[in-house]
Amino acid sequence: MRFSQTLIPTMKETPSEAEVISHQLMLRAGFIRKLAAGIYTWLPMGLRVLRKVERIVRNEMDRAGARELLMPGVQPADLWQESGRWEHYGRELLRFKDRHDHDFCLAPTHEEVITDLVRHEIRSYRDMPLNLYQIQTKFRDEIRPRFGVMRAREFLMKDAYSFDVDEETSATSYRTMYAAYKAVFDRLGLRYSVVEADSGAIGGSFSHEFMVLAETGEDDIASCGSCDFAANVEKAPVAPRQGQAPAPVAQVTEVATPGAHTVEQVAAFLKVAPADIAKTMIYLADGQPVAAMVRGDREVNEVKLKNMTGAAELVLASPAAIVETTGGPVGFSGPLGLNMPVYADQELAFSAALVVGANKKDTHLTGLHITRDLPQARQADLRNAALGDPCPRCGGEISFARGIEVGHVFRLGTKYSDALGATYLDAEGQAKPIVMGCYGIGVSRIVAAAIEQGHDENGIIFPLAIAPVTVAVLPMAVDGEVWETAKRLHDELWEAGVDALLDDRDLRPGVKFKDSDLMGTPLKLVVGKKGLAEGKVEFKLRNGGQVEMLPLAEAVEHVRRLAREGGAQFI
Ligand code: ATP
Ligand code: MG
Repeated sequence: MRFSQTLIPTMKETPSEAEVISHQLMLRAGFIRKLAAGIYTWLPMGLRVLRKVERIVRNEMDRAGARELLMPGVQPADLWQESGRWEHYGRELLRFKDRHDHDFCLAPTHEEVITDLVRHEIRSYRDMPLNLYQIQTKFRDEIRPRFGVMRAREFLMKDAYSFDVDEETSATSYRTMYAAYKAVFDRLGLRYSVVEADSGAIGGSFSHEFMVLAETGEDDIASCGSCDFAANVEKAPVAPRQGQAPAPVAQVTEVATPGAHTVEQVAAFLKVAPADIAKTMIYLADGQPVAAMVRGDREVNEVKLKNMTGAAELVLASPAAIVETTGGPVGFSGPLGLNMPVYADQELAFSAALVVGANKKDTHLTGLHITRDLPQARQADLRNAALGDPCPRCGGEISFARGIEVGHVFRLGTKYSDALGATYLDAEGQAKPIVMGCYGIGVSRIVAAAIEQGHDENGIIFPLAIAPVTVAVLPMAVDGEVWETAKRLHDELWEAGVDALLDDRDLRPGVKFKDSDLMGTPLKLVVGKKGLAEGKVEFKLRNGGQVEMLPLAEAVEHVRRLAREGGAQFI
């Protein structure tokens, strides 16, 4: 493979549109180019990384007994109507019509299509357990595509689906996938953590996310220093406070708070702490208004709130909807006199006198006592876990980290088989619903996540397993013996099963070194006149280490051995 014929448009400057290092480096190394927001072309070197990731994923899925198929990226609306998700999926689902005026969508996921397949093909208990997977392009019209391929609109996912006769065997399928995922991320050489995730309507610890630990991750992870509790903050429970809740100490009193609508402004104006204020947020749960209250220094956990309301869709109410449903402007919502369900975080019962909005411009109420004044409010765990909270499992100290979600394993139960009527006949000839699980891996996101974890000031540092090429052959001249030797080494490496990139450009050595480092190529063979005079070539590692002079005759074998020991792939 020759550099000059591969299209590797490296860049010196950091592109201004890229916020995170992986996005910057993927552009600079010539791996990807943007076509439209969240939609990218994978250039030859980027694609090689993607293919290597894909190969490890495929290999571990096959080893775990899953079988590969390939489903369409365009799906008819009727299936989505059957599952109810045509209504509920929201605007991430890109919909369109064909020439016959039939509705279609671009696949954001494949539960409907796979369930449709198995309802026709799985007949009896003898056809299970079955696990089918694909590695396929998904489209989600993300509200905020960003960070390059990390949160794209078009991206590559591995999605697997398991089919079992009952919950017990389904749990076994789940455990098999869980173990296969660990094998995948171990082989990829990533630092990751497995956390409990929200499992929506199903409940229980039936959903885990695999998180690559990185500062730029969009997910917050709470984990305990004393036990093995680790959860996505979306789901991490907050333990109820111990002890006696205080009695009321004041009457509810209206006060003027001109111009103060944020928690900070109200706190400063009334000279109270943010913790003495209760924020009231108005949401639309499947279109119906609900109010959620948390302390001023806390965040509403929308996943917990959504689960509590049982709604399929939960969105913050627009300013207009707030005026319409509360009678007051944004920033002054409060719980008294509202004609909607009110959910109050359990912690609010431990405040003797709270400040809340009065549903009236420039006005708040003081002295509110949740249990006295809002007996109809549902008190529950509604907020995000925060620093200082005890571990919900052992009472230990929890700490927070950020992660990039690269995989998700999930038990679906009979949600889709019930909706689409996917049944099998048991040993007694009785029709029963198929019990399902689904398992996703963000194949293209992994490329970005690996770069977030592996880089330095010179560029990307890839593990051997997923580097675009294993070794760069860098001739210090493109003529004479130096060039002929480099060419020969390159050819011999390919014959030995090592993918090598021959930098055939007539450029200064410094440029070749820089580009090789930028792309994250783990090994270098440098062919120069001086070395050749002694029958030697220079060998270097991307990630530190001394320069070694290798006898020419041993160079290929040396690289081949290192590549094999380091789990390099040959594509
Ligand atoms: P997120 O919370 O990041 O939006 P999700 O819960 O929507 O993820 P799943 O539906 O579980 O994701 O999809 C399986 C995997 O696909 C995720 O674990 C993630 O690695 C990947 N993925 C999801 N959305 C995107 C995206 N917009 N761009 C790239 N990869 C994605
Ligand atoms: Mg998503």
